[in-house]
Amino acid sequence: MGDPRGFLKLARQNSLYREVCERAQDFKEVSKLRPEKQSREQASRCMDCGTPFCHWGCPIGNYIPEWNDHLFRGNWKGAFALLDATNNLPEITGRVCPSLCEYACVLGLNDDPVSIRENELAVIEFGFKNGLIKPKQIKHRTGKKIAVIGSGPAGLSCAAQLNRAGHSVIIFERDKLPGGILRYGIPDFKLEKQIIDRRIEIWKKEGIVFKTNTDVGIDYPVKKLLDDFDAVCLAGGCRKPRDLKIEGRDLKGIYFAMDYLTQSNRRVVGEKIPKSELIDAKGKKVVVIGGGDTGADCVGTAHRQGASCLVQIEVLPQPEECRTKNYPWPQYPLLFKTTTSHEEGGERQWSVMTKRFIGEDGLVKKLSCVRIEFEQAEDNVCSAMKEISGSEFEIEADMVILAVGFLHPEHSGLLSGLNVEFDKRGNVKTAANYATSVEKIFSAGDMRRGQSLVVWAIAEGRHCSYFIDKYLMGESNLPIITPGITRQAGALFCEGVEE
Ligand SMILES: Cc1cc2nc3c(=O)[nH]c(=O)nc-3n(C[C@H](O)[C@H](O)[C@H](O)COP(=O)(O)OP(=O)(O)OC[C@H]3O[C@@H](n4cnc5c(N)ncnc54)[C@H](O)[C@@H]3O)c2cc1C
Ligand code: SF4
Repeated sequence: MGDPRGFLKLARQNSLYREVCERAQDFKEVSKLRPEKQSREQASRCMDCGTPFCHWGCPIGNYIPEWNDHLFRGNWKGAFALLDATNNLPEITGRVCPSLCEYACVLGLNDDPVSIRENELAVIEFGFKNGLIKPKQIKHRTGKKIAVIGSGPAGLSCAAQLNRAGHSVIIFERDKLPGGILRYGIPDFKLEKQIIDRRIEIWKKEGIVFKTNTDVGIDYPVKKLLDDFDAVCLAGGCRKPRDLKIEGRDLKGIYFAMDYLTQSNRRVVGEKIPKSELIDAKGKKVVVIGGGDTGADCVGTAHRQGASCLVQIEVLPQPEECRTKNYPWPQYPLLFKTTTSHEEGGERQWSVMTKRFIGEDGLVKKLSCVRIEFEQAEDNVCSAMKEISGSEFEIEADMVILAVGFLHPEHSGLLSGLNVEFDKRGNVKTAANYATSVEKIFSAGDMRRGQSLVVWAIAEGRHCSYFIDKYLMGESNLPIITPGITRQAGALFCEGVEE
């Protein structure tokens, strides 16, 4: 630890954002990279605790106190080398990770936590700016061929690791460009797409082959996949949206969040959408159903498209602003969050259930809603919900976006063709070593875990790569045991895995 009194001398500097009046007019990133001097100062707040719980909080086990120390001392190369050792995409987590580590930061017990995510971003952007991130020459090739299906963060991380272990890796992607939800779900105002392209160019130069516009199971037969490759990683994400099957659902003007966000992201990069397929909030009264992060992305997108008014509703009650006993430190708590999209306007309502959609001439015009209350169970966890009688009300809407989560991966095509087993939730079932029920087929990321976070997808991709390498070679030198993983995903090591 460079400065033992750093946290006493300096307050946390929160993320810097462009002014609302400016940023809501465009889709460019809202956050600003902070000056290098300020990043070094902020790193001095890290106390280098004896037991650094931030490691535990970070699913990929980033060496946080160590790179904070290098950063504070101005040893950017040292900080970069440590960050690069555990994270294949720090430029993405540095932008969109909900910072699970910061909620586990010891300083956060009685002060504001260290701004770990911002420091991560500072280090990786320094690395790019100063040419530290170059394609690595793979000296030895094993002759083994691996197919990774899906180019989201899980597939990309898995492929990057396996390629570095010397295997020949092809990533199949059904979309036009790689990135998965990073490219087609998360809006540019959180993550500009050249950030993904910059990294993919490096991986292409390292030898990873990207085969886009190829839906495996449809354009590329399953039999060929099994014949052509020594191992396969299924990293196709979890995209089947949860629907709200209530009266009026078939009215026009009601869309799934991913359909809306995907189209918006395509438009931002200049793709032309036929008028009949356009989903545009311009001049419309928009209601977003679902109070989570996907809903927030829809709110920010609708603002930028020029919605005339915007309401976001959520069936659950408004979360607390501070930790409750249900979420003791260092757990990641469910807290009330105001995202940059919420700062830009709109109204939020909690404990509201939509009963039916009301339309005119086949178009949605209103939502009929009711307020609800939750019965508090003894352990203070909300249990059964009850409608409050007489609280019925209507919200006008000529565009409704459903952001109420995802059920499981799509089963048709690839997964049914392979005949893999599913778990109780409908995700791809694997053993602890990420192997599915079908020989040589592994799975990682949301397809196995259910809809989650980018940092978990990276963790899964990295772990899966280790088990694929071991399956092919008998042993593996790829990293698996990282501080966060061994503790947080302890289940990995309990059944059938002899590590
Ligand atoms: C709108 C939205 C915003 C989000 N924002 C955040 C955020 O800010 N921070 C955060 O941490 N997490 C966020 N998440 C969650 C995060 O993006 C996901 O958990 C993560 O992308 C999962 O990665 P993945 O690689 O498993 O799957 P995905 O990113 O879904 O990628 C899967 C890829 O597989 C491809 N594919 C599927 N089947 C086939 C096939 N048969 N053949 C070829 N290709 C196929 C798909 O086209 C897709 O490109 C968000 C999620 C959504 C929906
Ligand atoms: S990846 Fe996320 S949890 Fe891990 S150090 Fe970065 S911000 Fe924290």
